[in-house]
Amino acid sequence: MFDKVLIANRGEIALRIQRACKELGIATVAVHSTADADAMHVRLADESVCIGPPRSSESYLNIPSLLAACEITGADAVHPGYGFLSENARFAEILEDHGVTFIGPTSEHIRTMGDKIAAKETARRLDIPVVPGSDGAIESIEDAERVAQEMSYPVLIKAAAGGGGRGMKVASSPESIEEAFITARTEAKAAFGDDAVYIEKYLEKPRHIEIQVFGDGRGKAIHLGERDCSLQRRHQKVFEEAPSPALNAEARARIGSIVSKAMSKMKYRGAGTVEFLYENGEFFFIEMNTRLQVEHPITEMITGLDLVIEQLRIASGAPLSLKQEDVTFSGHAIECRINAEHPRTFRPSPGEITYWHPPGGLGVRVDSGAYQGYRIPPYYDSLIGKLIVHGKTRNECLMRLRRCLSEFVIDGIETTIPLFQELLGEQDIANGLYDIHWLENYLATHD
Ligand code: ADP
Repeated sequence: MFDKVLIANRGEIALRIQRACKELGIATVAVHSTADADAMHVRLADESVCIGPPRSSESYLNIPSLLAACEITGADAVHPGYGFLSENARFAEILEDHGVTFIGPTSEHIRTMGDKIAAKETARRLDIPVVPGSDGAIESIEDAERVAQEMSYPVLIKAAAGGGGRGMKVASSPESIEEAFITARTEAKAAFGDDAVYIEKYLEKPRHIEIQVFGDGRGKAIHLGERDCSLQRRHQKVFEEAPSPALNAEARARIGSIVSKAMSKMKYRGAGTVEFLYENGEFFFIEMNTRLQVEHPITEMITGLDLVIEQLRIASGAPLSLKQEDVTFSGHAIECRINAEHPRTFRPSPGEITYWHPPGGLGVRVDSGAYQGYRIPPYYDSLIGKLIVHGKTRNECLMRLRRCLSEFVIDGIETTIPLFQELLGEQDIANGLYDIHWLENYLATHD
């Protein structure tokens, strides 16, 4: 096992990773920008290094600074968390070249899965069902028109380098394809520096269901069931639950087995998430994330496994800690992403938290780096915490969630807590009857 792990991230996930390291007796190194000097992940780490000014490009994304921090502290491994450099193949390669272990898959797997066109080709080759779409990149408007016509409208134009729901445009008829194609390309170029786009059939009522996998890098792989992340705004997850209210044991076992066989064939190493859209009983692969996900705690709650400890074990060369037949699911878990945003306009609300009282009790987990007196800097993502509840049944979980939301007090800033309180009063949410468009429709029709 490693002696010292540097955590190349901030906020709740940096803290989450530190907790796993501490339980394993591994020393931790926090890195931070000048804006994060007072952050909890810095306060609780064994050591910390300032890696640059507030802007992410000059700090959390600054590879030379991170390498220097490894060198100064003698860290023997780096955990990238999610976002920032977690899916940067070059970062993984550079670390390995410097004798530092990257806690994640091989750079080759990161690269392949990071390009969504290559990822879909790989998935198809590994017998994973994929969402119907163009064979590769679409270079011209004429090609876009032809492919869309063959596939039938509506279609979705997506960025090959996409992420965070950006560079995605729907064309519902031949009249709108040209504009969608040009806007998607322009957005992709601006956001990712790469204007390659492809086309997919736009599914009208799917759920987003993703499968958590772990591989040992030598051909053994298991799955830890699914997470339903259908409640979304602007293609971004807001609330997640496991298991999915839409799947039965047979469907779960079927897709789980397809995915773990594929991961085993590709000799995947570490944690990964294979994302699908699920419509009319069929699964369609959309992408794979080669890292830990924001919503991983709901899987932890129903499996009893610590996913970060498992990542650390595998990265240090240990085998998977359990076999597929040893994975059991217990009860239900739901996560609400608490963002420092206005609950209706979603305008970011940085500033000082003047009062902080998180909920507690049986089956309650709050992953957050926030505290009373903490000043949320304006430079980063607005996620300030995750409220995760576990219950024997989905209904028990919903009751617990309502109770926790009413107990949670965060003063001084706006948060998305009131939105969740409102949503939990909706019959469709109580019944688990929602698809990826449900929340957008709800927000458009309820002031
Ligand atoms: P990103 O990497 O930007 O998050 P994804 O490919 O993971 O993009 O898709 C994000 C979300 O966009 C999905 O969860 C879903 O809501 C929506 N989406 C993606 N592809 C399709 C599609 N073919 N049809 C309908 N919705 C889609």
